[in-house]
Amino acid sequence: MILCPGCFVDYLLPAIVNQTQEIIRICNECNCIVYQKDGCIKTTNLTTFMEERGLPDLWSELTLLDIGETAEEETYENTKNLFPTIGE
Ligand SMILES: [Zn+2]
Repeated sequence: MILCPGCFVDYLLPAIVNQTQEIIRICNECNCIVYQKDGCIKTTNLTTFMEERGLPDLWSELTLLDIGETAEEETYENTKNLFPTIGE
């Protein structure tokens, strides 16, 4: 479980953006998004992220991934599993 860097209350859930197939992390509490671009980790929010892609800022545009995370609390800077690989 990766603690949200936006609100420090909830956790960042892994998800896929349906239209772009990007793997991101999103917070259920504050809509903070952590994503990867050009090898860098970036943080933004759902509205900005979706606007940049010309998509509506709706959770229905995302598919949450169930990767069976441990209950151990991590920060997004320290985790090794920020963006899980899928289809393995
Ligand atoms: Zn949050």
